Amino acid sequence: MGLQRDRIASNNLKKNNLEQKSNISTSTGYRFDHMVTASPVAVYSCDKDGYINFFNDAAVELWGRAPEAGKDQWCGSWKIFSPDGKPMEIDKFPLAVYLKEGKAIKGEEIIIERPDNTFRTLRVFPCPIIENEEVVGAYNTLVDVTQLMPDLEKQSMLAAIVESSDDAIISKTLEGIITSWNKGAERIFGYTESEILGENIQILIPDALLHEENEMISSISNGGKIDHFDTYRIAKNGAKIPVSLTVSPIKDQKGMIIGASKIARDISEQINKEKALQQSTQRLKILNSVGKIISEKLDIKTILQRVIDASTRITGASHGIFIYNTLEAPEKSSLRFTYSGLTEDEFQILYDQCGEDFFISLLEKKDVLRITNFEKDPRLDEVTVSNSKALSIIPTASYMAVPVVIGSGESIGRMCLSHHEPNMFTETHEELAVNIGRQAAVALDHARLFEEIQAMNDRKDEFIAMAGHELRTPLTSAKGYLQMLEMLEKDNMSKSFIEKSLIQLEKLKVLIDDLLDISQMEAGQLHLDIAPFDLRQLILEVTENMRYSQKTHAIIVESDKLQLPVKADRRRIEQVLINLLTNAVKYSPDAEEVRVILEKSADKVVVIVKDFGIGLNREKRQNLFKRFYRAEKDSRVSGMGLGLYLTRNILELHKQEIHVHSEPGKGSEFSFSLPLSE
Ligand code: ADP
Repeated sequence: MGLQRDRIASNNLKKNNLEQKSNISTSTGYRFDHMVTASPVAVYSCDKDGYINFFNDAAVELWGRAPEAGKDQWCGSWKIFSPDGKPMEIDKFPLAVYLKEGKAIKGEEIIIERPDNTFRTLRVFPCPIIENEEVVGAYNTLVDVTQLMPDLEKQSMLAAIVESSDDAIISKTLEGIITSWNKGAERIFGYTESEILGENIQILIPDALLHEENEMISSISNGGKIDHFDTYRIAKNGAKIPVSLTVSPIKDQKGMIIGASKIARDISEQINKEKALQQSTQRLKILNSVGKIISEKLDIKTILQRVIDASTRITGASHGIFIYNTLEAPEKSSLRFTYSGLTEDEFQILYDQCGEDFFISLLEKKDVLRITNFEKDPRLDEVTVSNSKALSIIPTASYMAVPVVIGSGESIGRMCLSHHEPNMFTETHEELAVNIGRQAAVALDHARLFEEIQAMNDRKDEFIAMAGHELRTPLTSAKGYLQMLEMLEKDNMSKSFIEKSLIQLEKLKVLIDDLLDISQMEAGQLHLDIAPFDLRQLILEVTENMRYSQKTHAIIVESDKLQLPVKADRRRIEQVLINLLTNAVKYSPDAEEVRVILEKSADKVVVIVKDFGIGLNREKRQNLFKRFYRAEKDSRVSGMGLGLYLTRNILELHKQEIHVHSEPGKGSEFSFSLPLSE
């Protein structure tokens, strides 16, 4: 340390300091020298050319070396760097810049590398040494901030994060006074930092939610934390903003809770998305239920009414009119109307005033039209012709019309919806109405087809009824003539031909009767004539008659009762018995007998017609009672597949069922019951 002492004796530092502190005594000056030498802060000085002429122990320790006299310039370190890590020329060292350019750069940071390759971050505080008003050199104080750097870096990093965060990060005292406010808070709530610092946090809280703040503060004061609490806050412009809050306590160095930090995340977007999702689910539900209601019926009038009712209700319209075209091209009198929110009289006035041509012209339009404000919208052509007339009946400010177009692209209708207030129909309403229109198109298309088929069916039934009547008259006369001939004829051979012809005519009569019965039944005109009669007596008569017309099978009646009084339509039950017995004979060609079994119980008689013929498998049994169904395609066995269909319907009119038990190759049993009349 001899070098340092010598230099202290010879340098101008002491004088300089003494001059600056002229009121300090010489003994104080000595103590000052000693203090500088022994100071833990690195201090050194140089002449005006930068050659170091004084340094203390702390400086040597910091540099990791002692500078050499007349050699080391500006700084005792060889390698210096700027804070960004770039090497720095020695004459760019702050002390040099200070002396050469006179620029005061106090507290500038530099990094030095020491001989042992360790680094130190320093803050430099250069000062000139002036003698006789002339700068003769400078001294420099070096503050080692290496230890502080990680903390500082962390702090500045945190500050940067807070500043760049999208969330509002706010701190406040326990009394609610805002003490910090980041850019995110400014963006979300609209207040600048300078506007809001010092204000109470309540400025952001809606009146109705002020209690939340007290609850939060009391929880925070007890060391608690609030995590993702969803609520609302008020922005500077008065907008209500949905936020998710996380609040944590702020503690002082002694661990005392002195405030709270609050992170507020703007969840408007999230809420909007949730709302949109909810809305679209809701819309789907509505459409689904409307779809169900519409397609449940095949009757056009009901569909039209349901469609317009649903559209009016769902869109919130005050009036709705469905114009439906029954023909392919709009023509006069081909239109049907259904309406909602209007009485029949009101609609009639509207119709008379506007005229049918106007409605036809609406039908020709295939576009969707939505007018939010009727008075201001230039697209009035839809309603120009008669708007003044229509408006007097239906006051309209909002208007919406959607086409009902079927798969072929043909427009079969148009729904017109209106409301007396403006801005009533949104895009969502439009979307809903368009979708209902689509569903209506499908349902109406089906209903149209159904109506066409129905009409064809009606024509067919009319034809059968007419043909049956026309055939019956010549048949009855032919039968009469043959019966007369049979009585007159003596020749046995001719007699047998006449008898056979009469049997064939009888079969023809049964077929015609069946056809007529069916057309009557389909038209709902087959009425029963219910009265008590003896079933056993009827069965004996039927079997007796059959013995004459068919001679191949014995018909055996099994019954131990003398009388079986039932209540039913005797003529129709006779028809049922004849059908079942004729089938039993027809479909058991190899058998010799057919049995009729009568079983009496407390309140009913069960009739079983049993044969030992070809039988039926499961599939045939399932189809047996359908109209025109024939299980056997054998054309040698006559029949039209109508007998069992009629039989089942006659029994159904009696509120009874017919059952079949059958096995292929073994035979069949058809059974039904009738209630006893006593
Ligand atoms: P069909 O005029 O053809 O006899 P039905 O309606 O009386 O018409 O009978 C329908 C079909 O059921 C018949 O074509 C026949 O294939 C079958 N069927 C009816 N009764 C019997 C039976 N007892 N045994 C076997 N098959 C039968």
